[in-house]
Amino acid sequence: MIARVHPLVTARAVDQGFDYTAGAGVERGALVEVELGSRTVRGIVTGVAEGDGEGLKPVLAVTGSVPGPLLELAEWIAASYASTLSRALGLVLPPPAGTRAPDPWVRLITMEGATRRQAEVLAHVGLAPLPLSDLVAAAGTTRDTVRRMAGRGLVALDPAPRAPVDDVRVALTGEQETAVAACVEALDAGGGDVLVHGVTGSGKTEVYLRVIDAALARGRGAIVLVPEIALTPQTAARFTARFGHTVAVLHSGISPARRGAEHARIAAGEARVVVGARSAVFAAVPDLGVIAVDEEHDASYKHEADPRYDARRVAAKRGRLERAVVIYGTATPRPESWAGIPRRVSLPSRVGGPLPAVGIVDLRADGGYPLTRPLIDALAAIDDRGGRAILLQNRRGAASAIHCRTCGRTWRCPRCDVSLVLHGRRLVCHHCGLAQPLPRACATCGSVDLAHIGAGTARVEDELRGLYPRLEVMRLDADVAARPGEPEATLRAFRRANAAVLVGTQLVAKGHDMPGVSVAAVLDADLALAIPDFRAEERTFGLLTQLAGRPGRPGDPRGRVLIQTWSPELRPVVLAARHAVGEFLEGELERRRDLGYPPFRRLVRVLATADEAAVAHDVAATIATAAAPALDGDILLGPAPLGRLRDRSRSHVLIKTAAAGRAAAVLRGLLRDLAADLRRAHATAVVDVDPQSFG
Ligand code: ADP
Ligand code: ZN
Ligand code: ZN
Repeated sequence: MIARVHPLVTARAVDQGFDYTAGAGVERGALVEVELGSRTVRGIVTGVAEGDGEGLKPVLAVTGSVPGPLLELAEWIAASYASTLSRALGLVLPPPAGTRAPDPWVRLITMEGATRRQAEVLAHVGLAPLPLSDLVAAAGTTRDTVRRMAGRGLVALDPAPRAPVDDVRVALTGEQETAVAACVEALDAGGGDVLVHGVTGSGKTEVYLRVIDAALARGRGAIVLVPEIALTPQTAARFTARFGHTVAVLHSGISPARRGAEHARIAAGEARVVVGARSAVFAAVPDLGVIAVDEEHDASYKHEADPRYDARRVAAKRGRLERAVVIYGTATPRPESWAGIPRRVSLPSRVGGPLPAVGIVDLRADGGYPLTRPLIDALAAIDDRGGRAILLQNRRGAASAIHCRTCGRTWRCPRCDVSLVLHGRRLVCHHCGLAQPLPRACATCGSVDLAHIGAGTARVEDELRGLYPRLEVMRLDADVAARPGEPEATLRAFRRANAAVLVGTQLVAKGHDMPGVSVAAVLDADLALAIPDFRAEERTFGLLTQLAGRPGRPGDPRGRVLIQTWSPELRPVVLAARHAVGEFLEGELERRRDLGYPPFRRLVRVLATADEAAVAHDVAATIATAAAPALDGDILLGPAPLGRLRDRSRSHVLIKTAAAGRAAAVLRGLLRDLAADLRRAHATAVVDVDPQSFG
């Protein structure tokens, strides 16, 4: 027999198969050891053929195997994302199983009576139980300390994860029944994609639970993907509450040993339901029947390192390979999903009450930026009578755009319809590279009051403390998120407070369970719109809609939502205020059709970095020129200069293409050929298919 073996080494130069002789038992998917040059390396058999293979070296050993669908998935990832098979296989190969005996799981009983130090440790436990070894590592404590806390009744130690959430078996609403039936029907028909468009609080999670129930009854397993598991412990807890020990929870905080042990439970068929972030899409669940992608609009489903896969596309591909149903759930579907998934069910009403009314506050008319009169009044009511408010101030990536403070005008690229970014004394398009001198006056109204968007808002927290000494003021942003356990602790403190206001970035708008929020406000909606990205409208709409779904709760629907903006007439603002998701998407799709953006064409980005701006530009230009002849019919934009990052200059080229697979193949070949040149120039080039960020 002759085996085609792909070496599992990272060098792009040997991203190809080599032939070896092999014994009769060697099959596609076998993990082997072979000699490559003078080294012994690991490899994977991608195919076998008859023949005696005279003159070929032999396969030295067989060490394991990869299930067929997962090998095919890895090959598809390497090809689709211009990566290498070795890197793609790195995603699907299970980590080595831990050798230690399984840990007990730590479950929070109460914070009452805990010392300050103990409270810090308890903050890491949160609402989702976690293994003892993970807690010891995360909290910097010892096993004995935790055991003593168990002795004092602060925590319980369970042999297997037990959720503190009680499982509530509700009677499904008619809408939920329809959604479950559509998904189960797809499962029985051999799989397929289903978009579940349900407003916040409409009971989407209950739909996933019922569909998974049906899958388990048919002997099939399930994967549930959630964006940020550390911040949504309740979601994971609801799966453990319903399915108990058959659930494996994978999140970035768990120790390698624990991860190995969980993967062993999954492969053995002991854990049939896997709940985890992005990479859980690769879990080797046997007889996979369901993949649920919760909050499918979330950008964290894109992996921002090679292979730059999109877990939503991977889920769709894996669903086809395994004849599984793939459920995409969200309150704000992506235009790509709206146009691309014909099977759609909707849950238009919130369980336990209508969505709150939304007020738009025109910042041009109200002098009180960033705290306007209506907002001050709403917060004063909380200060008087108690309650909770969430204030969103989304600064990320938007600090360097300008707008007119008199009429609200912003500066956009006429070709790409994205916000222009301030580079020194010029305004630059981060998509195509167009550059204009900085204007002195507004072209619409003549005003010279031009200012940075969002400037002067850093002191929101201080201002709030000054205005309302009785309110607890809390902050949740990237600084806080960088400290392990801190965001969870902040959210917990907020949930328990009687009168509090939480100020933060988009982290505060995401799907945390925050009952009893009576006011939700966006301080400056234009910040999100100013991100130099063709998805700025989609992201803004999503952010506003999600935030608008926060206030109120079953039996207490008097919530208040305020959107402060300099552009109260813009579609994302107007339509989010009306909860008009379908109307927004139809209009957004039309805009994208005209501009050649996804889903009408796909984007492929080539990002070059180097010490010098000129070198980064040259690398991007060289690759674009070399690739162009093979990209017939595609539109190439750039090179566009980007800001320096971590002391490196950057430049990128964008390809708008109807054949992303072809572009990926062409660029994968180019990167292999250029690897040595790039190293010599101390430059890097990265290919990003379906980029989700352009920073
Ligand atoms: P979503 O995921 O759509 O935001 P959830 O699934 O979290 O919504 O449901 C919101 C709340 O409504 C949860 O507390 C859930 O237990 C409850 N719920 C869901 N379905 C029902 C139902 N059919 N009857 C009563 N309560 C329900
Ligand atoms: Zn103006
Ligand atoms: Zn442009």
